[in-house]
Amino acid sequence: MTRLAGWGRFPRLDVRHLAPPDRAAALAAVVTEPELIARGNGRAYGDAALNPRATLSMLGLRGVLAFDPDAGRVVVEAGLLLGDLIAEILPHGWFLPVTPGTKFVSVGGAVAADVHGKNHHGAGGFSAHVAGIELALADGRIVACVPGEALFAATCGGMGLTGVILAVTLRLKRVETAMIRQETRRCANLAEAMAAFEATRGWTYSVAWIDCLARGAALGRCILLLGEHARRDEVAAGQGGLAPVRRRGLRVPVEFPSWALNRWSVAAFNEIYWRRARPGSTLVDHDTYFYPLDAVLEWNRIYGRAGFLQYQCVLPKAASAAGLAAILTRIARAGAGSFLSVLKLLGAPAGPMAFAMEGFTLALDFPATPGNFALCDELDAIVADHGGRLYLAKDARMGGDFFRRSYPRLAEFQALRAGLDPGGTFWSAQSRRLGI
Ligand SMILES: Cc1cc2nc3c(=O)[nH]c(=O)nc-3n(C[C@H](O)[C@H](O)[C@H](O)COP(=O)(O)OP(=O)(O)OC[C@H]3O[C@@H](n4cnc5c(N)ncnc54)[C@H](O)[C@@H]3O)c2cc1C
Repeated sequence: MTRLAGWGRFPRLDVRHLAPPDRAAALAAVVTEPELIARGNGRAYGDAALNPRATLSMLGLRGVLAFDPDAGRVVVEAGLLLGDLIAEILPHGWFLPVTPGTKFVSVGGAVAADVHGKNHHGAGGFSAHVAGIELALADGRIVACVPGEALFAATCGGMGLTGVILAVTLRLKRVETAMIRQETRRCANLAEAMAAFEATRGWTYSVAWIDCLARGAALGRCILLLGEHARRDEVAAGQGGLAPVRRRGLRVPVEFPSWALNRWSVAAFNEIYWRRARPGSTLVDHDTYFYPLDAVLEWNRIYGRAGFLQYQCVLPKAASAAGLAAILTRIARAGAGSFLSVLKLLGAPAGPMAFAMEGFTLALDFPATPGNFALCDELDAIVADHGGRLYLAKDARMGGDFFRRSYPRLAEFQALRAGLDPGGTFWSAQSRRLGI
């Protein structure tokens, strides 16, 4: 048995960890294992990629099977990491159509969670750009699913519960350079921030760092970072190439003691971050813009041995102002917020297990302490009251009742699964906890 966890390092479970080196071995595992869940690179925060009976690492399947640099279409194995895919496609003038906040995510994991980027308001989720999925089912059949089919929609965001994704065909995004034109704006409070997101919908990318400890008139103050892929004529000679940037990350050398993160250190960090942000326009490389956290490898260790919870909710637009204010007020009162709390605007939902909805999503980290578990329960009640839901890729603790109420198309998903996998082959600690 191997002790494994998600990125939040809570919970840690003893699992049979299978690491097939190639496609044939992965398929053999799907056929022979009576129960299992696929695992990508373990960047989901909680227990979505953990099954004590068998956790099937897909990282042995990392091939680029086909790439058409004229059409911008690529077929890759599911275990390929997004960063490695960028290295392959960027020199040819292509980029990922959607990317989450870390490049250390596998393509299979990106489809299974239907990850969103800073462009969800315009581009939808990762799966909106997927032209086909090769999926291994519980009975060992391999099926090709395409957009428009129920199985395709259920697999995108289905958290590995419909089968094991073997390969993915992805449509890419044309870019002229490897640089991003970034514009930084300050928003004094939540109302200003929400108005700024709406007013800048025309920008491809938008994301805000929000000071979750600000209170009163400054509640929800944030730094809004807008971005566009820079055109060739916008960058200086020497900067205009398409070479992928790979900064060497620093590694967090030790687990931090649990007292290192407290309301004073977080407040001090937030104040400095707020003051240092320089409003205006600048050119940054794609790695700096999309993956700032990747510069610190194993940053999850700063939360100490007990690990941490990432709380990410989305609220419908009409309820976002009141709901976010209530959430931020509660967090500021508890003095429990994190260094990097993120606010984004999302667009329409996709499949039956879609997290996204038209509205605002807020994500922040809490050390996994008993007090913060109780705080998260309180936040759940606020999210539920405002018609919102939590993101499964970040969840490690939500209760089944709240989950079932907040994912209205769950029965549709369960019916499809019952038809495909009557024996219940595919399950995770998360799916059992939530009764999916
Ligand atoms: C620093 C950081 C920033 C992040 N930013 C964002 C963000 O901006 N937007 C966002 O949406 N998410 C974000 N995430 C979450 C992350 O993108 C998702 O959790 C993603 O699913 C992780 O992919 P993975 O390869 O690590 O998969 P894992 O964490 O290993 O697994 C995640 C889920 O995918 C399933 N899965 C993985 N591979 C397969 C496969 N081959 N077949 C079937 N199912 C599979 C697993 O069963 C599990 O349910 C972030 C995570 C981190 C750590």
